[in-house]
Amino acid sequence: MPDIRVERLTKKFGAFVAVRELDITFPENTVTCLLGPSGCGKTTLLRMIAGLETPTSGRILFGEREVSQLPPRKRNIGMVFQYPVMYPTLSVAENIERPLLMDRALSAAERRARIDEVLDILQMADLAQAFIGELDAGSRQKVAVGRAVARHCDILLFDEPTTNVEVNNKLQLIRAFKEVARRLKQSIVYVTHDQTEAMTLADQIALMRDGEIEQCEPPRALYNDPLTEFGGWFLGNPGMNFLRHEVSPDSGRIALPLFDRPLAMPEGAAPGEILTVGIRPEAIEAHAAAVPGAVAARVLNRSITIGGQLLLKLRVGEDTLKVKSDPERLAGHGDQVYLSCPLEAVIFFRHGRRISHAAAFAD
Ligand code: ATP
Repeated sequence: MPDIRVERLTKKFGAFVAVRELDITFPENTVTCLLGPSGCGKTTLLRMIAGLETPTSGRILFGEREVSQLPPRKRNIGMVFQYPVMYPTLSVAENIERPLLMDRALSAAERRARIDEVLDILQMADLAQAFIGELDAGSRQKVAVGRAVARHCDILLFDEPTTNVEVNNKLQLIRAFKEVARRLKQSIVYVTHDQTEAMTLADQIALMRDGEIEQCEPPRALYNDPLTEFGGWFLGNPGMNFLRHEVSPDSGRIALPLFDRPLAMPEGAAPGEILTVGIRPEAIEAHAAAVPGAVAARVLNRSITIGGQLLLKLRVGEDTLKVKSDPERLAGHGDQVYLSCPLEAVIFFRHGRRISHAAAFAD
């Protein structure tokens, strides 16, 4: 399947720039999630790849073929939208067959084989004769995927397909998408504002903000190593802690209350400057009793997250921190806990952009 290359792509609506001089490659046989807050330009970018929106400037290539000005039907793409468009009076199998009927070169037996293949991948063979109206929203979206992939298109585009699906059915639907990607090896671009969905599904995530791509990396790399404070804040639940600290003008060391000794000057920093320090709440370990190297912190607030984790708001020195912990680890803790943190979890930012990770303690 071809890769998708987007070069200096811009889309303006009047004076408003929805997508700004954007460059990105969606590699072949890969699932790329476009992730970002509402209004950042995800859908506009996807619609330009589909041919549903004309770029103001820039190019889109599928492999070596420039498609920027081609209509959607000449691009050999399949699309799955938030609201699947289907024929409620036809069965699941008939709905999947509909787009195949356009291809006069396909025999009835070939159509049958394609339908069976898709139903098998989606584990829906037992629902082949069911009517669309009998299905829940998640199953209807699976049929929509079936319709899109049965044509054996090169590229599959998804626009927030789980938005209207019940929470309990979302994971099953995402598993079905993953299976489609694994078996059919299509190049998939998937728009979502749901970070869990993106982390579960993507080979790479393109994090978008204000019409631009902030960072494009595999999920773990993006999570562990955000290039910007925005990435640290947007990913994670809750996002990173951000603390402002000065690099000592005399020694070049940086003293963080979270550590019992100062850190060596971060790479790329200058003595006397004030940096933002980013640390993920789950990277900090909270202990009920003192352990070597840990520092004391005062509990300001505690709550339970959706995943059953304990979320603490803590005061350590002049810093206020969020820390996520296993509740059992801290059973019986009082208003004081003890914190330790691996050095590699500490990231330094200047003007919102990462400059380096913490490397070592000062001598
Ligand atoms: P959401 O998740 O809310 O759909 P998104 O990241 O997909 O957000 P887009 O739908 O691409 O965002 O919209 C990007 C910006 O462009 C928004 O501010 C939106 O209001 C604007 N926009 C999109 N389509 C049009 C249009 N046809 N005319 C004018 N403005 C538009």
